[in-house]
Amino acid sequence: MIVRHISFEDRMDTVVFDLSPTPHITVDGDACQGCTTKVCVSVCPAGLFVPMNDGGVLFNYEQCFECGACYLVCDGLGAITWHYPTGGFGVAFRRG
Ligand code: SF4
Ligand code: SF4
Repeated sequence: MIVRHISFEDRMDTVVFDLSPTPHITVDGDACQGCTTKVCVSVCPAGLFVPMNDGGVLFNYEQCFECGACYLVCDGLGAITWHYPTGGFGVAFRRG
């Protein structure tokens, strides 16, 4: 069996994002203030959550893989509102 190594960059070249004008994920910054784990920062495979000095997080929904991990692990009650992008927008994974 031949195992073909594919780099992360090569894999990302097969991913396309059709950005919706409406965010499919929103983060309630007030709820994040009391969050001590900031687990969204480490769990997001796209690195879309950035911890801020004021105790909150900076979030950008562009280039989201729609895996749902942030929503599942969030420690803040209702901090994350999550749904799939509507209208055919969002990520598309193509075969490399
Ligand atoms: S759905 Fe996945 S890729 Fe998108 S922001 Fe949440 S953890 Fe990151
Ligand atoms: S885990 Fe939830 S509450 Fe904590 S910083 Fe991330 S989004 Fe905010």
